[in-house]
Amino acid sequence: MQVFKFGGASVSTIERIHNVSGLLQRFQGQPLLVVISAMGKTTNALEKVVEAFYQGHKEQALELFSAIREQHRQISRELMPSEPSEGPDYLSDFFTEVEWLLHDKPVRNFDYYYDQVVCIGELLSTAIVSRFLQSRGIPNQWMDVRDLIRTDDTFRDAQIDWTYTETNVQQTVVPLLAGSQLIITQGFIGSTDENESTTLGREGSDYTAAVFANILNAESQTIWKDVQGVMNADPKLYKNAQWIRELNYREVIEMAYYGAQVIHPKTIKPLQNKGIPLYVKSFINPDEEGTLIHDGQVSRLPPIIVYKQRQVLMELSSKDYSFVGEGLTARLYELFEETKTRPNLTQNGAISLLCVL
Ligand code: ASP
Ligand code: MG
Repeated sequence: MQVFKFGGASVSTIERIHNVSGLLQRFQGQPLLVVISAMGKTTNALEKVVEAFYQGHKEQALELFSAIREQHRQISRELMPSEPSEGPDYLSDFFTEVEWLLHDKPVRNFDYYYDQVVCIGELLSTAIVSRFLQSRGIPNQWMDVRDLIRTDDTFRDAQIDWTYTETNVQQTVVPLLAGSQLIITQGFIGSTDENESTTLGREGSDYTAAVFANILNAESQTIWKDVQGVMNADPKLYKNAQWIRELNYREVIEMAYYGAQVIHPKTIKPLQNKGIPLYVKSFINPDEEGTLIHDGQVSRLPPIIVYKQRQVLMELSSKDYSFVGEGLTARLYELFEETKTRPNLTQNGAISLLCVL
């Protein structure tokens, strides 16, 4: 079986949703699990809703949310004009869930509310795409990933309970795939043992797809993007950015960790651990080769450029010319950990320490 992931840009317009449907049609009859992100910039818009709600601006939060609701309804109507337009539709429950919450006063921490509201983006997009596929004669099974992926309650950075999730996925997903079902589900979200929604960190859908690939021993995972594959630099910033045909896990995990926007950094480990190849391909030109990421030696790579903005250079030095040594370096790293600060570059001198943050 294979795992696909479609990002927000691949379902941001009616045309693009048609495009995804056309692409999936090619794989009909094959066992496939598809993870789809929230449409376009929905996650950012939902973040604004939670911020307004948490600052006590209830009316503003409801207004912002109603814009998101209408956008999704509109897309659904345009995709499926024959559906009844009056009365509650198949998306109503999702909307109601959030609206109820927005009517309350916040009593828990911000991160908790963030996850309860933001998770709706992926639920809406997948519900719409799944229904649209059905209407086009592409049978599929929509699944609420919160019934599959169990996490702890570190809201906004939830950690997956692998043991529970694995058993769960084996029991519920494997039998469906055995019948060559197409499964449409969400990335980025999960739920606690108390059924509270959680999120795994921004851009986390790549990671969810990799978790499924790992548990299901997928043949491969493909991330469909609006670029030809992985480039050696951001093509929006460097016009000479080159496409890279092949990379290994090691190279990619470093690129991603240091901020190349290609893939969520947590994606690589679940794939590497099972030797599952990762393809990054263009959903606009699906016949193009894309990038293959796997185990093994890859030589002759161009220099890889990650452009980081808003960096600070910090220099610490001893006042009396004593060596910095291991003790102080260790203390500095303890401080990084305590303050959740991540240096991007460090350099140790005899009496100084430099770091870029
Ligand atoms: N929709 C989420 C985000 O924009 C997750 C994802 O797309 O990977 O961060
Ligand atoms: Mg994304």
